[in-house]
Amino acid sequence: MFDTLSERLGGVFEKLRGRGALNELEVRAAMREVRVALLEADVALPVAKAFTDIATERAIGAEVLRSVTPGQQVVKIVNDTLVEILGGDAADLNIDITPPAVIMMVGLQGSGKTTSTAKLARHLADKRRKKVLMASLDVNRPAAQDQLRILGEQLSIATLPVIPGQLPTDIAKRALQAAKLQGFDVLMLDTAGRLHVDTALMAEMKAVGAASSPAETLLVVDALTGQDAVNVAENFSREVPLTGVILTRMDGDARGGAALSMRHVTGKPIKFIGTGEKLDAIEPFHPERTAGRILGMGDVVSLVERAAESFDADQAEKMAARMAKGAFDMNDLRQQFQQMKKMGGLGALAGMLPGMGKAQAQMDKAGVNEKTLARMEALILSMTPKERAKPDLINAKRRIRIAKGAGQTVQDVNKLLKMHQEMEGAMKRLKKMGGLGAIAKMMG
Ligand code: GDP
Repeated sequence: MFDTLSERLGGVFEKLRGRGALNELEVRAAMREVRVALLEADVALPVAKAFTDIATERAIGAEVLRSVTPGQQVVKIVNDTLVEILGGDAADLNIDITPPAVIMMVGLQGSGKTTSTAKLARHLADKRRKKVLMASLDVNRPAAQDQLRILGEQLSIATLPVIPGQLPTDIAKRALQAAKLQGFDVLMLDTAGRLHVDTALMAEMKAVGAASSPAETLLVVDALTGQDAVNVAENFSREVPLTGVILTRMDGDARGGAALSMRHVTGKPIKFIGTGEKLDAIEPFHPERTAGRILGMGDVVSLVERAAESFDADQAEKMAARMAKGAFDMNDLRQQFQQMKKMGGLGALAGMLPGMGKAQAQMDKAGVNEKTLARMEALILSMTPKERAKPDLINAKRRIRIAKGAGQTVQDVNKLLKMHQEMEGAMKRLKKMGGLGAIAKMMG
């Protein structure tokens, strides 16, 4: 799985190893190679592009961590971006509802739909302690209903008895009735496949869906077909409300294009992957573990995570020391902005301060968001180090220069200075009250 991609990305990182510093050009060059690696792995072009755009921006904007190398930081950024492209958190099945939870399985012929139905039924019975009933609605292929029955017998999973000549929607209704009466937790409907996505098939899917109100509609696609698998998913999702994808034959897929493109292109999460012909060869899909498999650099990733944590702790400690003295200059303000970008609100320490509510309210009124934060940061960067340390120096003439330097107006500078004043005031009041210790007491 993902062998080609692992190897290529490994090559990119190898080149960055041991480098003391990386400039923007070098980061961009490395990311171009990442993009080529993705394209070679048959990842859809828009996905490869989005991936490298995001990762490049992050790598260039990243704060330099003391205890790790730039190369290691890039590994971590690529890792995090991979996790996101793969779907972020693992997507669970919505089956813990009033029983029976119906899972409708759809897909093209030969995608591994019937096998996956049986695999998933066994998984739910074994790992989730569910009582599962399977029913085949495939009346086109004479052997299909027998195939599911035989798989059920092998796995000791109940199947709905076959009534020859019954239509798919009628089978679905009968299965639902049987599942209710016999107390099954989950009903799995194995629908008919076709060679191509066609209107008759889609009409049937919709009718079965209407008759059974599935909690999950899972599309089974073959990972080996690469970008075609993604196209099939797009076509299906236009017609039936898919809740997720099962990607089969991952065991034979060295490239991984379908796995990497699926979520981004279709918006549908991969919920399970098939990893072999055996009936236990199915796994819940975990973006984080998958990214780990692709990069094979779990130790580097956790190293950078730890460094980032201690970096934050360092900063917070320094900040606390300055606050205890009632000090709050433009550098502190800038640091607060950076924290806000990370956490979407006032930094943890400042957020606790009495009187900060006013500053926060002002920011809310001003519509402070990532973009405006970046603009305010630009103003601070346009100040001289002396101005940053002693904002009182900033007179009218300096305001004009600062505004010009950041491509903004004097009013923008005034707004920033006002915000700074509010915060500084809060900091001074805090000192009078006895510093952080007093707050700690107040908060119990
Ligand atoms: P359907 O026509 O979509 O129902 O496809 P089947 O379930 O009959 O599967 C077709 C073939 O694919 C069978 O030989 C399965 O054993 C095989 N198959 C299904 N899933 C996987 C998988 O994850 N890995 C491998 N190697 N083979 C699989």
